[in-house]
Amino acid sequence: MNHETQHAIVIGASMAGLLAARALSPYFDQITLLERDVFPEVGKNRKGVPQGQHTHALLPTGQQVLESFFPGLSPDLVSQGAILSDPMLGSKRFFGGYYHCQFQTDLKGLYLSRPLLEGNVRKRLLALPNIRAIENCDVLGLAASKDKTRVQGVRLIRRQDGSAEEILKADLVVDASGRGSRSPQWLEQLGYEKPEEEQVRIGMGYVSRYYRRNPEHKNLTLINIASQPCTRLGVLAAQEHDRWIVSIAGYLGDHAPTDPDAFLEFSKTLPVPDIYNIIKNSEPLSAPVPATFPANIRRHYERLSRFPDGFLVLGDAICSFNPVYGQGMTVAALEANALHDILAHGNHKLAKRFFKKARKLIDNPWSITVGGDLRIDGVEGKRSLVSTLLGRYLNYLHQAAQHDPVVAMAFMKVVGLRSVSKSLLHPKIVWRVFRTNQQSRLTS
Ligand SMILES: Cc1cc2nc3c(=O)[nH]c(=O)nc-3n(C[C@H](O)[C@H](O)[C@H](O)COP(=O)(O)OP(=O)(O)OC[C@H]3O[C@@H](n4cnc5c(N)ncnc54)[C@H](O)[C@@H]3O)c2cc1C
Repeated sequence: MNHETQHAIVIGASMAGLLAARALSPYFDQITLLERDVFPEVGKNRKGVPQGQHTHALLPTGQQVLESFFPGLSPDLVSQGAILSDPMLGSKRFFGGYYHCQFQTDLKGLYLSRPLLEGNVRKRLLALPNIRAIENCDVLGLAASKDKTRVQGVRLIRRQDGSAEEILKADLVVDASGRGSRSPQWLEQLGYEKPEEEQVRIGMGYVSRYYRRNPEHKNLTLINIASQPCTRLGVLAAQEHDRWIVSIAGYLGDHAPTDPDAFLEFSKTLPVPDIYNIIKNSEPLSAPVPATFPANIRRHYERLSRFPDGFLVLGDAICSFNPVYGQGMTVAALEANALHDILAHGNHKLAKRFFKKARKLIDNPWSITVGGDLRIDGVEGKRSLVSTLLGRYLNYLHQAAQHDPVVAMAFMKVVGLRSVSKSLLHPKIVWRVFRTNQQSRLTS
């Protein structure tokens, strides 16, 4: 690629922005991250990422990308208190009305808080010689060439008294400003169409609280209770500093209360009482904190026939998934990885090549999320005969996953974004589901 004047700007220094900047670093002389917040110390929450106070699962696929971008990150996180544990052995997973069986694998899942993860990624990124960050600034819009065919930088304002709007020039601008991204409006202002936006409204609410993790639970890292069509879900996950984070989620306004006693009572109404049984005897370390997530949102940039050169959109700004599936950071990592690989072949028609690849990366997690959400009565959306049949099949699959590690693993690979959903319909898996259920019927 041309190495004359290569400056890239990334809007937003959350997970997608940090990973995008890392992906760009071999190809640009300088990368500038623009972030509204002032960076806190590693491990502390910040205002622009309120979701940092809630459970944040990093799927093994995302962990692999992070490790390839920042070799040695995982052991470094462990040395700071993150827990590395076999996700199939140290966890209780109650899906579709059944506990999946536990068994040993060679996988290692990382359990830690979002601020510890983000803070370490940020620290490692900012240590690269061609990365700098301007904190405490708001990006207001794009700066474009006269004929509007090329984005040439951004308009920004620093959050200090007496600041005036300024223009920062760049050869490439990447919008990683999250689900509230204003790229559709910015494109419209330049005379382009807005991307089509798909929404699946779920009315999701989270309430999360920290508890002390006592030594008696040292072999347990996760309880995940997600049993559609029940509208209430719960996760209890280990974190650094001997803590549990407990998030209770509810669809369609069926949200947990933030009053501490009522929160505990609500946890009792989950389909199984495993989380309640632990937290009723654990010391709370924080007040319950709420978050709402009204809808899954997907913006189809890949469908636009015209798009300016020198501009990309990445992360939640393209697609923001129901957080209960824990996919957002991993999809952002996969997109950043794709950007890295695409740039290795030059920057010709960059946006077209990137959005085409991003669409492929998003299709599978989007179908998992929307497919799961449409199993909840009252979530509006088209239910095809195929998806209804698939839902029924999943019930049988969860039943078989009580006993059959191969079936349980096949499911975990799909929700972990290591396999596509249709792998669950592989004849070998279908046969095992049928056979295992048949055998357990005969022996019961
Ligand atoms: C409650 C909840 C729980 C979640 N749980 C999980 C989970 O378990 N696992 C998982 O993988 N994902 C989870 N996610 C999703 C995950 O947090 C995101 O997918 C991930 O942070 C990537 O998002 P992003 O970087 O694109 O955007 P964000 O994380 O939203 O970050 C956007 C950044 O841009 C900055 N910004 C915005 N506008 C401007 C502007 N105009 N100028 C300058 N800066 C700007 C913001 O300050 C912020 O730093 C969860 C989300 C929520 C809401």
